[in-house]
Amino acid sequence: MQHAYQQCINPDCNATFGTDEVHVSCPTCSAKGVSSLLDIRYDWSKLPVPKSLAHFESRWATKGRGDTGKLDFSGIWRFRDLLPFYNNESDIVTVGEGRTLLQSADLLAKQIGVDAGNLFLQYEGLNPSGSFKDNGMTAAFTHAKMVGASRVACASTGNTSASLALFAAHAEMVGIVFIGSGKIAYGKLSQALDYGARTLQIQGDFDACLHRVKQIATENKELGIYLMNSVNPFRLEGQKSIMFRVLESLNWEIPDWIVVPGGNLGNCSAFGKAFMELKELGLIDRIPRLAVIQAAGANPLHVLYNEKGIRWNDGRPDHATINAFYKQMDDDNYHAQTVASAIEIGRPVNLIKSLRALDVMDGVVRQVDDPTILEYRAMVARYGFGCEPASAASVAGAHMLRKEGLISASDKVVCILTGHELKDPDATVKYHTGIDMKAVQESAPRSEPKGCIANKPIPVADDLDAIIAAIGAPAQVG
Ligand SMILES: *Cc1c(COP(=O)(O)O)cnc(C)c1O
Ligand SMILES: [Zn+2]
Repeated sequence: MQHAYQQCINPDCNATFGTDEVHVSCPTCSAKGVSSLLDIRYDWSKLPVPKSLAHFESRWATKGRGDTGKLDFSGIWRFRDLLPFYNNESDIVTVGEGRTLLQSADLLAKQIGVDAGNLFLQYEGLNPSGSFKDNGMTAAFTHAKMVGASRVACASTGNTSASLALFAAHAEMVGIVFIGSGKIAYGKLSQALDYGARTLQIQGDFDACLHRVKQIATENKELGIYLMNSVNPFRLEGQKSIMFRVLESLNWEIPDWIVVPGGNLGNCSAFGKAFMELKELGLIDRIPRLAVIQAAGANPLHVLYNEKGIRWNDGRPDHATINAFYKQMDDDNYHAQTVASAIEIGRPVNLIKSLRALDVMDGVVRQVDDPTILEYRAMVARYGFGCEPASAASVAGAHMLRKEGLISASDKVVCILTGHELKDPDATVKYHTGIDMKAVQESAPRSEPKGCIANKPIPVADDLDAIIAAIGAPAQVG
């Protein structure tokens, strides 16, 4: 398939690049000192696009069987006609991700004042690595395989590293993860180590880790490292499928609201792109509204959107105001801080794309504080759908919007539960018992690990040379 390409989202540039190239931002804009994200685009008129969404139901019958059985089994690739960037189906890296469910949540609906039958939880914690990140990783690994990458890396608040590590193990690539010091939930750290990723604990926060890993991938190309963070536009292609599955579960009916937690803003951006394309293809006639919920301690989108009035503005948002806001943050030495570690992000990489999603989906942005997030997390669990703290921001936000009257009792509301409850058992235990497991772990006696394939995290200073040394040289081929 040659009808996919990468395109700069800056309308004053619009440069295009082949899918055989690897970029984390538009090279044409970079040359002018501007940073612009890339999108994956398709020449739909030359591609076999199904006439209706119901077409995809035929794949339920062939899942697990025949040549395409593995793809039909995946909750991402059974919609492959809507993300056809791969050259051959044999390029696709899949571990059976995306087999997630839209759960009807009547008991919770009662709590937040929505009519029975109208509140749904899209339970992405059921993915192989326990979070929605697998939707994007399967797509990005497919691209990594297409371009022959052998080492992949990401900065992570936890779930991206868990997902990367799982797919790297499966695809026989070297996984390298950059984790901020002391910030990661134990469930997530244990996964990165267990799946065998080289785990660097950088003395800095997520934003520092992302800066470093981008530097390593783009300015130190000799290291041969493929970047898996959500600046990678292929990840967002996979994450579109979360919306395809929501529609599939609703018998292709369009809900009124999609409510999602926002950190790096890749997920909400992917949702906007999904609906933009479905509409363009004539596969839907209406687009649901979007609510992005941030933690009050990590709320750049809330400030920029609600307080500073920043909008997509046909691809020309007010960059000067955005840059001044970030500069102020640096001057104040402000660092994001929230119990919802998965959304503890001060400089969301997909900010501009999220503005487009908010535009396409007539969206709103809200913030909820940590005690509220913890209460709603416990409430979600109490009614039978456990999730990690960040995920519960969606339910807290839905209730807030219901109380504001923006969401009405008869609206069909879909909250995305982004990560599994067992990702962050410490938060759960602390909520119910008051015991701070992090403090317990830090004061616990340590001994050298004895397991045959023990994989210790490597503490590294926030320093380029130290990081390059810790990564190690690329393996010699041949
Ligand atoms: C990554 C993550 C988020 C944030 O998603 P973004 O695409 O970065 O906005 C929310 N919840 C969980 C559990 C996550 O792992
Ligand atoms: Zn550009």
